Amino acid sequence: MLLSNVVGQHNAKKGLLNMWQTGHFPHALLIAGKEGTGGLSLALALAQYIFCENKQQQDSCGQCTSCRKTAKLEHADLHISFPSISPKPGTKAMSRYYMQEFREFIAQTPYSSTYDWLQFINAENKQGNITAEECREMIETLNLKSYEGGKKVQIIWRPEYLGKEGNILLKLIEEPPSNTIMLFVAEDTEDILATILSRTQIVRLPPINPQDIAQALVSRSLTDEKKAAQVAHMADGSFTEALRLVRHAENDLFPDVRNWFNALFRNNGVELAKFSEDWSKAGREQQKNFLRYIVQLLEQAIRARYLPGHPPALPPEEAQFVQKLAAMQVSLEVFEKMVKEITDTIYYIERNAHSKTQLHALSIRVVYTIQGRNIPVL
Ligand SMILES: [Zn+2]
Repeated sequence: MLLSNVVGQHNAKKGLLNMWQTGHFPHALLIAGKEGTGGLSLALALAQYIFCENKQQQDSCGQCTSCRKTAKLEHADLHISFPSISPKPGTKAMSRYYMQEFREFIAQTPYSSTYDWLQFINAENKQGNITAEECREMIETLNLKSYEGGKKVQIIWRPEYLGKEGNILLKLIEEPPSNTIMLFVAEDTEDILATILSRTQIVRLPPINPQDIAQALVSRSLTDEKKAAQVAHMADGSFTEALRLVRHAENDLFPDVRNWFNALFRNNGVELAKFSEDWSKAGREQQKNFLRYIVQLLEQAIRARYLPGHPPALPPEEAQFVQKLAAMQVSLEVFEKMVKEITDTIYYIERNAHSKTQLHALSIRVVYTIQGRNIPVL
């Protein structure tokens, strides 16, 4: 991956290139940024830059053998660890069992979430893990000479999943073998061992600005300029979220949203039952995307209530819907409660709760919220 294919993050790229070019690149770097800010992409692009045989001022060349091998995650001196699960009972979770899947996953987009990754390897409700065995293997591998005679790069995607096992790596981080660079990619530094944090140099990635998101969507031919601008404003600085939103736009979820709201406000039991029946057949990712989309529309309605006269940056139909919603005789508190109910449902669906029951319970709770009644404990 080229650095220029990492969305936005101009300051981080500039700073890192500068560190490299002045000989101050750290042995252990921790890239920290929320989901969708591009930590993993940046680490992969840095690895390619480090291996490139024909480095340019601002980027790797993208053409040399090393660049091509790195782009396919096939460079012999590129080592990657990520959360994984035990492939069969009695076998410890190790990244190397899943390298082929990881290559496919990254080839789709390096902007997917860790949750998406764990779904990709069918972890279902199993927690991913970076195990003690994996840490020991990492130490062994990095202590070997590099295969190609240059640097060795170890990427650790989500050191949060190391847990206490991370302490096994302390010596490695502190005194890395020669020609070794470790790139940690984290989303939440609070979940990383303090002993690891204190031994790495941290680069923080801010949310990506909307112009960069819009430009990346258009240059990847994912959508047209108008839609890209709308999506970029709703994505909250996350390219992962922007990709999800573009996918919605394709499926046109809006009619279903409108039907659901009509059923809620009329307390139409038949329609609400049909809603949970229909949507329980969709995949979990789709269900979550759909619910996130509703949350975004509700948030736009809340904003429109606070800032009347600022029409939401949405396609005409959705904008009209949001403005109607904002103008309804419904208190902000109700909107906020609805957002909370839907967000909770996303959380339950993520954890494999029975989706039809969850969606139906959601409709009931929202109807009660709208009517100002106390929600019965189910
Ligand atoms: Zn190159």
